[in-house]
Amino acid sequence: MEEGSANEDADSAPWLAPGLIDLQVNGYCGHDFNANDLDIDTVRSCARSMQATGVTTFVPTLITASEQKLLRNLKVIADARRSDPLLLHTIPFVHVEGPHIDASDGPRGAHPADHVRPPDIAEFGRWQEASGDLVGMVTLSPHYSGAPAYVRLLAERGVHVSIGHTNASSDQIRLAVDAGARLSTHLGNGIAQLIARHRNPIWAQLADERLYATFIADGHHLPDEALVAMLRAKTPSRSILISDLVATGGRPPGRYAAPVGTSVDLDADGRLRIAGTEYLAGATAPLKTCVARVASLRGFSLGDAIQMATAHPGRFAGRGRLAAGEAADFVQFRWARGDSTLEVQRVIVHGTPVRQAEHELD
Ligand SMILES: [Zn+2]
Repeated sequence: MEEGSANEDADSAPWLAPGLIDLQVNGYCGHDFNANDLDIDTVRSCARSMQATGVTTFVPTLITASEQKLLRNLKVIADARRSDPLLLHTIPFVHVEGPHIDASDGPRGAHPADHVRPPDIAEFGRWQEASGDLVGMVTLSPHYSGAPAYVRLLAERGVHVSIGHTNASSDQIRLAVDAGARLSTHLGNGIAQLIARHRNPIWAQLADERLYATFIADGHHLPDEALVAMLRAKTPSRSILISDLVATGGRPPGRYAAPVGTSVDLDADGRLRIAGTEYLAGATAPLKTCVARVASLRGFSLGDAIQMATAHPGRFAGRGRLAAGEAADFVQFRWARGDSTLEVQRVIVHGTPVRQAEHELD
């Protein structure tokens, strides 16, 4: 982060930061990594749309699905990476969110109940075989009896294990962290509407300093007071912003068919719900908007927010630092306190300019 005059309110000079890093992207601008007909061109198009928003590294996220579908889409993303050096750099690995989550309404969120299943080390092996070891992050609920062994094996293989979509007990969460889980997935979401006031999965994860936490700071998934309290408890240095973008992001309001087999309603204010319910079905605000929101919160700076979207996720993605002699990922943008998003002006991915100005995006 170039602090310059250290005056965030000055809108004269543009800001320069490492490229944004998003650990959870289901799709964007009509492109969906969970689609039954995902192909290499879809992966390319999604990457281009993401780069235009200032994101230079992102992690395609496959949610709960049949093993057959997971294997198919993992293989497509692996083929796409092999076909294009820029994609190879932009996509460090794939995040599989599920299918080993809590099956009950609430914690499960928008994931299809039919395909929720316990952790299975043999299935994990088949994911890696199909994709050339491309799965680098797995979100699960640690309430399954086999969870600690599964977490330990993945952690030993260098796969980041994240806790999410769960109603697990404090003991089950602690055992998963002891076994190597190091992240919480969109903390405060993917959880029951009503929980015990003291012993609940949010406190258990906030209190464990071994866990980083990802947050969807889009203004819909968490009210500001909850977001601020959680960021302070977790501390900015262990907080990571994710978009959790879905294909509906960047499209006009209306009802859409989601590839998970349900319909979703996109409201005019950007809230995306499972049709006819209040359950959120993913997010439509790109990471730059989440950065701007956190930067505008009292007690947090633009520098804090940028770190939460670059250096901190970069610890897991292996990116996020500008260093002499290394190919650069960076974004130039304008922002002043009160702006609802970053105005992205230039994006450089691995030393290559991918665009000059946001308005040039088709
Ligand atoms: Zn989720």
